[in-house]
Amino acid sequence: MIQLHNVGLSYQPEAAALSDINLKIPKGDFVFLTGQSGAGKSTLLKLLYAELTPTRGQVLIDGQNLTRLSRSQIPLVRRSIGVVFQDYKLLPNRTVLENVAITLEVLGWGQRDIGKKVFHILKRMGLESKLNSTPLRLSGGEQQRVALARALVNDPKILIADEPTGNLDEENKEAILDFFKEANNRGTTVVVATHDRRVIENSHRRVIRLDKGRIVDQGRIVDQGETG
Ligand code: ADP
Ligand code: ADP
Repeated sequence: MIQLHNVGLSYQPEAAALSDINLKIPKGDFVFLTGQSGAGKSTLLKLLYAELTPTRGQVLIDGQNLTRLSRSQIPLVRRSIGVVFQDYKLLPNRTVLENVAITLEVLGWGQRDIGKKVFHILKRMGLESKLNSTPLRLSGGEQQRVALARALVNDPKILIADEPTGNLDEENKEAILDFFKEANNRGTTVVVATHDRRVIENSHRRVIRLDKGRIVDQGRIVDQGETG
């Protein structure tokens, strides 16, 4: 469960990027965060993966207060959170395999287990012929699938995506969203920021709308049975 209590964030004094954010996202949910450019979507996501700490209020993940973490605790929290971005953020000089293996190397997994697990997830994402390619030789849709494999390879509790389909065509958008749904079906809580109305409308999930740093619509909390 993700909880935000009276959260405010100002990058500069007198200019709040987020104000009075009160939000609960139950475990296993799949929600979209939407709103115009500058509404505060990225800022809110950054609070969830402890990239930023709020100026006011509390952010809790499974009861753990992220605002009280010490610097050394942050990497531990991030282990249970996978993140993907619009521009993929893959390492250009590493192969596809290496880009995904990094997640598990950081966790101290052994090479054999890493090899098995990384191959399995890349195969599942239809990338088995690209294992030794470097990212820039791949299409945008392929690069985003590598980024998603890297985010999901350790079965994170939470998947966070910031405009993940922004650079993709319709077909690739749909493929990426299907992988999000699959991860969600496996129990991962999914939070996706997007201003793509079609993506939201086709997905039939809860939509939280931000405007000028405030929540203007919390969305209907639907139970899994209803979403199909
Ligand atoms: P969105 O993701 O919805 O486009 P952001 O969270 O990126 O919105 O931005 C929210 C507000 O915070 C905007 O007014 C933006 O200009 C401002 N902002 C974002 N990042 C920074 C930063 N690093 N320094 C100063 N202001 C920022
Ligand atoms: P299969 O049905 O191909 O045998 P499993 O569901 O048994 O696959 O999963 C095998 C491994 O691959 C698991 O360890 C799982 O963590 C990983 N995996 C497969 N798909 C995903 C996914 N969408 N997200 C995260 N991990 C996945």
